[in-house]
Amino acid sequence: MFMLLIANWKMNFSPVEAVRNFKKFSKLAPQKTSLVIAVPQIALANIAEAKASSQTPLQVAAQNFNFHPNGAYTGEVGIEQINGLADYALIGHSERRIYAYETDKDCARKVAAALSVKIHPILCVGETAHDRDRGQAELVVRAQVAAGLAGVASNRLAEVVVAYEPVWAISGFGSAKIAKPADAAKMLAVVRDEIKVLFGGEKSKQVQILYGGSVNPDNAATYVLKSKADGLLVGNASLNVYSFRDILDKMELLR
Ligand code: PEP
Repeated sequence: MFMLLIANWKMNFSPVEAVRNFKKFSKLAPQKTSLVIAVPQIALANIAEAKASSQTPLQVAAQNFNFHPNGAYTGEVGIEQINGLADYALIGHSERRIYAYETDKDCARKVAAALSVKIHPILCVGETAHDRDRGQAELVVRAQVAAGLAGVASNRLAEVVVAYEPVWAISGFGSAKIAKPADAAKMLAVVRDEIKVLFGGEKSKQVQILYGGSVNPDNAATYVLKSKADGLLVGNASLNVYSFRDILDKMELLR
């Protein structure tokens, strides 16, 4: 299975800028890595069009969606509306859990909705600094994994990606903290173990488990090697094609 490198552009770039950037990223030529760009919702249709008319190796992710297919949900973008535009979708990113009060139950409904239209769900989990200080990191993350995957049939598990991202290490929250690779490794093992508890040892190996949180070209390889991650989810360092390319280069050297 190829490693996954996911860029999260968050709430950056106009549709025109996003397409321009997507075209720049399309020139990357991964040999052993699958590249996914989580683009701003407003640019999804433009990017899907750019993707269809090119030979790009990039796949596209939505950063969010509403699990209702359509209906009276003003300002929302439903799963049916992103169907055909995205290959993957982020679910339960900590910025959504915190700013938009998304719950584990919402995440479970989104995972099911994504699978219903053959979009790969990327379930994001991770403890806050408060959870960690209270010694609850493992408990919280196990609960998020169990709740988020509660409705997944075991024959669909291979389509699911889980990203462990400690909230306190995500650059957008202004924290200066960076997770020690050993801590990331410990928590990725917890995520793997929880999936094993839920689905059994063999099935659990089908899920790609990623690390995310202040990943940059200098620490990317160490995180992958030490935590045995199947890939990385990158925010800030993915806004610029050069830093993203440097991360990709480090990953390509690993396998
Ligand atoms: C993210 O957006 O998922 C993320 C990990 O952000 P950053 O790399 O900027 O910490």
